[in-house]
Amino acid sequence: MTEELFREDATLVECEAVVLAVDAAGVVLDRTVFYPLGGGQAGDAGTLQTAGGARLAIVDTRKHPERAGDIAHVPAQDADLAPFAPGTRVRARIDAERRRAHMRFHTATHLLCALIPHPVNGCSITAGYARLDFHMTEPLDKESITAGLARLVAQAHAVRHRWIREEELDANPGLVRSMSVQPPRGQGRVRVLEIEGVDLQPCGGTHVANTADIGRVVVTKIEKKSAMTRRVVLGFAETGAAQETKGSP
Ligand SMILES: [Zn+2]
Repeated sequence: MTEELFREDATLVECEAVVLAVDAAGVVLDRTVFYPLGGGQAGDAGTLQTAGGARLAIVDTRKHPERAGDIAHVPAQDADLAPFAPGTRVRARIDAERRRAHMRFHTATHLLCALIPHPVNGCSITAGYARLDFHMTEPLDKESITAGLARLVAQAHAVRHRWIREEELDANPGLVRSMSVQPPRGQGRVRVLEIEGVDLQPCGGTHVANTADIGRVVVTKIEKKSAMTRRVVLGFAETGAAQETKGSP
C-alpha cells in the first residue's frame, strides 16, 4: 500500500521513501509525491535517488495494475534497477514544472465545469493542454468561455479539498459532474474539491490553492466530437495556442 502524500498536499515536490517492490509495472514505494494517471490527469514524471547517488528517471506514474492500493513509478526504458531493490531508501522527486502545469490546467477544468453546466463524458489533462468533453448539443463560443475563465481567475477564489462520507454524496447526486469518472467507492469517504462559490465536485486530482494561480488560460479549440459531445481544449496563453497531441492520456 502506497501512502498518497499528494492527496493532502499537492505542493510537495519530494519525499523520503522506501522501495516496497520492483516488477514489470515499475517501482513501488511505501509513500510518494508522484500522482498516478487518473481522473483524466496525467501521471507524474521525476527521479528516484538513493543515498549512494544512484539515480533513476521516472517517465510516468500509474496505479499498479495488480497490487491494489500500490502506485507504480514507471522507469525509463532499459534503466538499471539494480540499486533500487526492495528495502532501499530513496528520495522521490517529481518534475515540478510539469506537475505545476497539470495543477493549473486541472483547476481550470473545474472552472470550465462551472461555465458550461453540462455533464462531462471525457477529460484529459497534460502539461501541454487540457480537454474536456461535454455531453450537450448546444454550440459553444470560444471567446466568451475564454473571457469567463479570465474572470474567474481574476476573482481569486480559494481552492480546497475535504473528505465527505459516501452517504453525504449519495444524498447529493448533483455533485457528480462526470459521466465517465465516478468517484472511488468503498472506503467510506470521498474526496471533494471546492472552488469557493464556483464549483464543488468529487475529485482526487491535484490543484492550485487559488484560481489566481491558474494564470492565463485560453480556449484553443472547440470541436463537435459527435451529435451529443462538444470538446473544449485549453492552452496556456504564454505558450501561444497549445497543440493537442495525439496518443497522450
Ligand atoms: Zn479536480
